[in-house]
Amino acid sequence: MAFTAELAPTQDLDRPSLPISSSKPFVVINASSTVLIAGGGISGLATAYFLEEHLREPGAHCHIRLLESSPRLGGILRTDWVDGFVVEAGPDSFLSQKPWGVELCRKLGLEDSLQDSNDRQRKTFIVRRGRLVEFPAGFVLFAPSRLSPLVRSQLLSWPAKCRALCEPWISACATVQDESIGAFVRRRFGSEFVRYVAQPLIAGVYGGDVERLSLRSTFPQFQELEQEWGSVVRGLRRAAGAIPQRSLFVTLRSGMGEMASALREQLRQTEVQTGRPLIRLRRASSGHYRAEVQDEPAWEAQAVVLAIPSHAAARILEGVDEGLSRSLGEIPYASSATISLAYRPGDIGHPLNGFGFLAPQVERCRLLACTWTHVKFPGRAPRDHALLRAFVGGSQQEELLEVDDDTLILLVREELKTLLGIRADPLFARVYRWDKAMPQYVLGHEERLRRLEEKLESHPGLFLTGNAYRGVGIPDCIREAQETARRTVDFLQHEGK
Ligand SMILES: Cc1cc2nc3c(=O)[nH]c(=O)nc-3n(C[C@H](O)[C@H](O)[C@H](O)COP(=O)(O)OP(=O)(O)OC[C@H]3O[C@@H](n4cnc5c(N)ncnc54)[C@H](O)[C@@H]3O)c2cc1C
Repeated sequence: MAFTAELAPTQDLDRPSLPISSSKPFVVINASSTVLIAGGGISGLATAYFLEEHLREPGAHCHIRLLESSPRLGGILRTDWVDGFVVEAGPDSFLSQKPWGVELCRKLGLEDSLQDSNDRQRKTFIVRRGRLVEFPAGFVLFAPSRLSPLVRSQLLSWPAKCRALCEPWISACATVQDESIGAFVRRRFGSEFVRYVAQPLIAGVYGGDVERLSLRSTFPQFQELEQEWGSVVRGLRRAAGAIPQRSLFVTLRSGMGEMASALREQLRQTEVQTGRPLIRLRRASSGHYRAEVQDEPAWEAQAVVLAIPSHAAARILEGVDEGLSRSLGEIPYASSATISLAYRPGDIGHPLNGFGFLAPQVERCRLLACTWTHVKFPGRAPRDHALLRAFVGGSQQEELLEVDDDTLILLVREELKTLLGIRADPLFARVYRWDKAMPQYVLGHEERLRRLEEKLESHPGLFLTGNAYRGVGIPDCIREAQETARRTVDFLQHEGK
């Protein structure tokens, strides 16, 4: 969710970088081929964009239809402008070191709109005993690359610091196994470190539970560091790369929604329809896919890309393959809400000298985190005004989302009163609910993906893409979309021969 932006990995150690325009010389695709893309979030829109890129090659024609069930494109990407404030409903930025996001922005002509975070103020706070304590410098997500800031920090008790300092001397696990993030961090750095470092950071990114999320499926680079260097701290020191040209996280000046609208504007050959849910797919006798779409007769597509949450894909595929549908339905999701609050100058007791704070579960806060948006990305609020964005819910506090919006706002305000000394009424408050929007890569995720791949082999022309599979961040979704477009084109070419 990127309020842990300043702590995210400085390098993408997990995957080789695909060049963003990897379109190869192209041969004929049957002009009557139809590709159906379900889902108009970043994954579906980017898949259509990369497909069109391939179709610019001579001799390549096909009909692309993109169906979005809601009245709006963008999915989780949504920006609202309220009285001069830029209010992000979902993501507020993306990781610049994973190249696919920045590169797509360049292609879309959005380079000048890219905005770095205000790194002079790059500091995060953690709630400890009801007050905000500065997070020590030099961390790469939950692992320290330098130990001296940790020693000076007030975040951990002395016994916990001593335990964490032993990390370079803790021997590496002899066998590489699927381990939860919590188990890994406890083994390397100790239990208090899990409670005050890993748990709040991971809840900040995934809205998830450190004891259930798989390290290998979320941050495999830490397992690799342990295996290669015998210690995460030692590995991080050795792996320190070149100084990046941009801040770790970047945004678009007029909001992340601009990425979705720019993609939409660039789609020339795709028929895009909103308010049109794909209801069901079946296999036709031709081997193609028969699509049942709301308010229209069923029709056939040669290739189908499902760029929708896996629980939605599970329902659509029940009639195609029960086993595939069941496996998709097993990927757990977390729900959350973001609550944006605007304030006048002087309304806030705290100096807000950072990007925001995270609240560990042991502190029993109802907020997961709060970003000080106007500090992190100047320009998001009119001069001298503050825009705060709180996060509530996640896999461990979903019951909090059962209340209505007004109650949710009150609950957030009560906590901000204690932590930031805010007594005034906000100028406005906006609540955005994200029901089952964040997939949880729990233990066994990799094995589940392998089974899904196997099952898909029996359904040529059917592709799954989106945040449920190989990365929840926007750059990951774009990389997956690019790969899905390439595989779809390969399939159509093969069909056309
Ligand atoms: C609160 C929040 C904050 C986040 N913050 C960040 C961040 O700061 N940085 C970052 O990199 N990532 C962030 N993420 C993650 C990132 O935003 C998502 O992983 C990404 O946007 C998912 O895109 P998607 O296209 O795969 O899915 P979605 O955006 O969920 O799009 C799927 C689309 O499919 C549509 N759909 C569903 N069923 C059907 C159907 N039957 N027929 C047709 N259409 C259908 C839906 O309406 C939706 O529009 C955040 C996520 C959340 C929830």
